[in-house]
Amino acid sequence: MTKERPQSAIWDSEHECMHILALRELQIERLKKVVKTLWNKVPYYRQKMKVVGVTPSDIKKLEDIQKLPFTTKDDLRLCFPYEAFAVPLDKVIRIHASSGTTGKPTVVGYTRKDMETWTNVVARFLVAGGLTSKDIVHIAFSYGLFTGGFGLHYGAERVGASVIPVGAGRSERQISILKDFGSTALVCTPSYAIYLAEIMQGMGVKPDDLKLRIGFFGAESWSQRMRQEIESKLDLFATDNYGLSEVIGPGVSGECLYQNGMHISEDHFYPELIDPDTCQPVDPTKGGELVFTTLTKEAIPLIRYRTRDICTLMPEPCPCGRTSRRMSKISGRSDDMLIIRGVNVFPSQVEEVLLEVKGTLPHYQLVVHREGVLDRLEVRVEVSEEYFSDEMKKLHEMERMLERKLENLLGLRAGVKLVEPKTIERSEGKAKRVLDMRPKE
Ligand SMILES: [Zn+2]
Repeated sequence: MTKERPQSAIWDSEHECMHILALRELQIERLKKVVKTLWNKVPYYRQKMKVVGVTPSDIKKLEDIQKLPFTTKDDLRLCFPYEAFAVPLDKVIRIHASSGTTGKPTVVGYTRKDMETWTNVVARFLVAGGLTSKDIVHIAFSYGLFTGGFGLHYGAERVGASVIPVGAGRSERQISILKDFGSTALVCTPSYAIYLAEIMQGMGVKPDDLKLRIGFFGAESWSQRMRQEIESKLDLFATDNYGLSEVIGPGVSGECLYQNGMHISEDHFYPELIDPDTCQPVDPTKGGELVFTTLTKEAIPLIRYRTRDICTLMPEPCPCGRTSRRMSKISGRSDDMLIIRGVNVFPSQVEEVLLEVKGTLPHYQLVVHREGVLDRLEVRVEVSEEYFSDEMKKLHEMERMLERKLENLLGLRAGVKLVEPKTIERSEGKAKRVLDMRPKE
């Protein structure tokens, strides 16, 4: 289904459409300031800079950023809870934390000015994705320490839309609210959008019964195929947005309606791409690990924060008129990357292949086992009811066909198992795409 692209405006044209040379000038001025602040206010950082032999006076041009040490999640854990803060707590008006799957979470704080910045960068991508003050926004992110719910909430309010803070979970109730309140914009993770579409179908609610026209999906990586699925199942225009709590939360970047890469709010967040193994800069169009330096944050400024997310950067201008560099969809997290028999595998690559084939559903899981010394990858994917009721022979043919496609793409033999609809666990937040059953080393 080809949909007509909705209209959109520009929230902050002064900064979003800034001449590139003026933007670079602004960035270097802000970079110098942030390095000075960290040197003066955060002993942990001063120590890190001393170790590599750099002082604030060494930072004169943007390329000098490469002299600065990287910051990692481990640094923030060592600073738990407030040691990385550059302001006293009485200047902090909000605290969030990122969900730590292992060990302690990382704690982030916001001053009043940080909250303004955050609200405005979220408003930027919402407006870029078509939101106006006439919209009714249904937010199905969880509200809590996770930055997704509150970040989107404040940004959408700033645009002047009517915001419904539904929160996560209770999926049937979500559908009733979407229907009864006439929501026009949906905010959630892409995998939850697909799940909602499935629940809707079960309740006999059709896309036509809803007024949804645009959707903002973030907090996990998703493929172009997944976008097409969401757009056709919910009959809306879907854009991707990106952020992480350490950098600010959602709002670091977001797509415009050309759906061709996410515009980075470069006046606030300076991007670099590095090789995750050597930490050296890479050709941004070839791809690498994304690294951000915050240029304006007060409470917890970060220098060269390693996001672990893999993407490319696009420097060429966008037809929408915004001048910032765009980042591609995240192809994976270097943390999530599976290494199977020496081959790097990202779940999103597998997703592309699976959803290309008629009859598969966007619910899948990668299961890795170890048999003797060999790792084995099994890909489980749901197929629609009509396919599943087909004769076994046909199902096996489909499995073999998917295995061939995966082997072509990955250079790795993987077993494919087609499973019945609704047998793979659903998530109300980020989907669990990988089950790694290998013994921990
Ligand atoms: Zn654009």
